[in-house]
Amino acid sequence: MPAPRLYVTDAIVLSRFDYGEADRIMTLFTPEHGKLKAIAKGVRRTKSRLGGSLEPLAELRVALARGRTFDIVTQVEVKHAWLGLRDSLESTATAWYLAELADRSMEERHAAEALYVLLRRAYELLDAGMSAGRVARWYEMRLADELGVRPEVDRCVECDRVLEVDEGFRWVPPLGGVLCYRCPGPPAERTALSLDALKLLKAYQRMDVEALAALRLVGAVEREVEAAMRDFLRVSLERDARSLDFLDEIRRGGSAFGGRSRIGDG
Ligand SMILES: [Zn+2]
Repeated sequence: MPAPRLYVTDAIVLSRFDYGEADRIMTLFTPEHGKLKAIAKGVRRTKSRLGGSLEPLAELRVALARGRTFDIVTQVEVKHAWLGLRDSLESTATAWYLAELADRSMEERHAAEALYVLLRRAYELLDAGMSAGRVARWYEMRLADELGVRPEVDRCVECDRVLEVDEGFRWVPPLGGVLCYRCPGPPAERTALSLDALKLLKAYQRMDVEALAALRLVGAVEREVEAAMRDFLRVSLERDARSLDFLDEIRRGGSAFGGRSRIGDG
C-alpha cells in the first residue's frame, strides 16, 4: 500500500530559512518520522493562514502533503506555545542550542520518538523557569545516552578501576569519560577534573530533574561541568554547535549578534 498523500503529526521547528518570494523551508522534528524538510508556501505574506503559528520553540500539530522534494505544510495549530521559555534571552538561546543538538543527532526520516520526548521535556522545563544551564546539562547527558555514548564517570576508561575520591581525575572525551592519574594519557594539567565536578557529572546521570533543580551548586563547578559536557558532545557529534556562540554572547551581555538575529533563521 502506498504511503498516504496527506498526514498529520506533532512537530517542533528545529530551523528554517526563507525561500523564494514568500516561502520558507522548515526542518521539522516529529516523533514518528524524525526530522524532515517541509515547505510552507506564502508563509511570509502578512495574510498567510500559516504564518503566525509556524514558529520555532513551540509544539505544533502540522498537516502535511507529500511533495516531490519537500512535503508541503497545509495546516498548523499550536499545541504548546511555551511562552515562558522566551522570557529570557539565555533560556531562548539554550532552547536553540538544544534544538541544534537534536538536529545533529538524527538522520532525516528516521523515527526518533525518545529524542522528541526529551526535547519536548527540556522545553517544558525552560518554560517552567528552571535554570537554563541545568536543563542543558540534564538534556546533554540524556542525549548522550540516546546516542549510546554515555560518559563513564565511575571507573577509569583505561584500567577499569573504580575511581576513589582521594585521587586525581582527568576528563578525556575521546576516550569516553574519566581517566585516572595512574594511566598514561594527555597532560594532566590540560584535562584535570575536580572531585566536585565529577560528583556533579554523576548527579546529572543519576538524579531526576526535580532533584537536579533543587541542588545548591557553586558557579565554578557548574562551569567546569558545562565545559566538560561541551567537549564531550563536540567529540561525540564531531563538531561544535553553532548556536553556542549565540548563547555565550548573551551571557557576556554583548550584542555582536544584534537584537533581531536568531539562530535557526537562515
Ligand atoms: Zn586508570
